[in-house]
Amino acid sequence: MLTANLNDGRVYAPDLKHKEGDSYSCPYCEHKMVLKQGRTVIWHFAHKPGANCVFSTGESLDHMNMKHHVGKFFSARGLACQYEVRVIRNRIADVFIPTLRVVVECQESPISFYDLINRSHDYWSEHYSVLWVFSIARACDHWSFKVRREIRPPDEVRALHKELWGQVCVMNEEGELRVMHLDSATGRYNDYTGGSRYPKTLKNPSFRELEFPVRSRESSSGDLHFAMPANRSWWPKRSWGRYS
Ligand SMILES: [Zn+2]
Repeated sequence: MLTANLNDGRVYAPDLKHKEGDSYSCPYCEHKMVLKQGRTVIWHFAHKPGANCVFSTGESLDHMNMKHHVGKFFSARGLACQYEVRVIRNRIADVFIPTLRVVVECQESPISFYDLINRSHDYWSEHYSVLWVFSIARACDHWSFKVRREIRPPDEVRALHKELWGQVCVMNEEGELRVMHLDSATGRYNDYTGGSRYPKTLKNPSFRELEFPVRSRESSSGDLHFAMPANRSWWPKRSWGRYS
């Protein structure tokens, strides 16, 4: 993880000035942590052996990189960010923008759309909004905004794209964030009526800047949505039910 407790405060590994004798602990399980000051990988904390914690297994360096870049992206635009904070009782936000009450969820691994919706509902019900950001590798299976070729985005990306007025946020390895739009792939063959047919899951991506200012917007049902007025988008488009 990117943060740990030091004395009475939370510190952020990538910006940390480590002093001899400083002792770090996990904010969630209080287990001792070690600072990993890698030469090529992002500085981060790891649990010492024996911890039993949601953060002690499984978090990839890609995910930590994404959190770091997402936080930097919004901080650079005047929106201060917090990392790995428990915003509501049963969830730990990847990145949190307190002034907007926006939780940013960074997604570089597969997630079911049901989980995505239910996680969002948990936040909406406590009057927070959620912005989902996918790594471009997950969304498009390549690493560049410049590549122009047809892709098969994963189900959750296509479902969210539909939900968000035809756009989703994606981030590349350098921490550049774009709004991605998916067009249907071009026609492949004519059916017996002469109509042009194409595979439904095959898409042509295009990218544009996420335009500022962004804000939170309250819906008629009282949910708080993340709004990108210049991109004519907010999340969600309509009220999705929680899945059980
Ligand atoms: Zn822990």
